[in-house]
Amino acid sequence: MSIISVLNPKGGCGKTTISTNLARALHDRGASVLIVDSDPPGSARDWHAANEDNPIELVVLDRPNNVKTLASMAANYDYVVINGAAKLEDMIAAAIKVSDFILIPVQPAPYDIWAASDLVDFIKARQEVTDGVPLAGFVVSRVVEGTRLGGDVRAALDEYALPVFDTTITQRQVYPQTASEGLTVFDADNVKAKAETTALIDEILAMIA
Ligand code: ADP
Ligand code: MG
Repeated sequence: MSIISVLNPKGGCGKTTISTNLARALHDRGASVLIVDSDPPGSARDWHAANEDNPIELVVLDRPNNVKTLASMAANYDYVVINGAAKLEDMIAAAIKVSDFILIPVQPAPYDIWAASDLVDFIKARQEVTDGVPLAGFVVSRVVEGTRLGGDVRAALDEYALPVFDTTITQRQVYPQTASEGLTVFDADNVKAKAETTALIDEILAMIA
């Protein structure tokens, strides 16, 4: 059992989009997967409710004490994907404590990357007292197709001394389109979106193996 949290207090960086698509990618590989929606506005629960045939189980745990009890629930699944909360520091801290791996989506702009500074400090403080657990890494999200990541983005990410995945998630209509129906890119024809989501989960699994 592995707990993967998708965290960044910055709204709009793609946490919910990535959480739902990663969960589905894991499910399609035959794993049992639970999504935990820790974000009180509840975009993941809205996504889940939009599709009554959703193959992924979802539970809402949007109070820090609930997140702490997650460990026993998680034992029934191969993977738990926590859709991270915005702003609520105690929710984010609780998720960091129970996680094996933290995925940090960031949009490709220095201000967005600098905004992850407190989160990175939180994660590093935890790693220091727990022998490096949870592992963590960045994924650059909502990249405009055909653009190369600028040196300013790379330089800003390098300052954090955390891994940055080679895979980037591109800005594509298929992500909101499928989300609005409670679906994922695996229900659509967009080959590139499926390929990048698959490549991301491959990189994550290689890191936590
Ligand atoms: P967060 O959970 O971090 O606030 P969301 O996943 O809700 O971010 O994304 C914010 C908005 O951007 C949503 O409207 C979502 O549909 C859209 N979005 C997220 N990722 C992408 C993407 N890769 N391509 C296009 N739109 C995206
Ligand atoms: Mg969200």
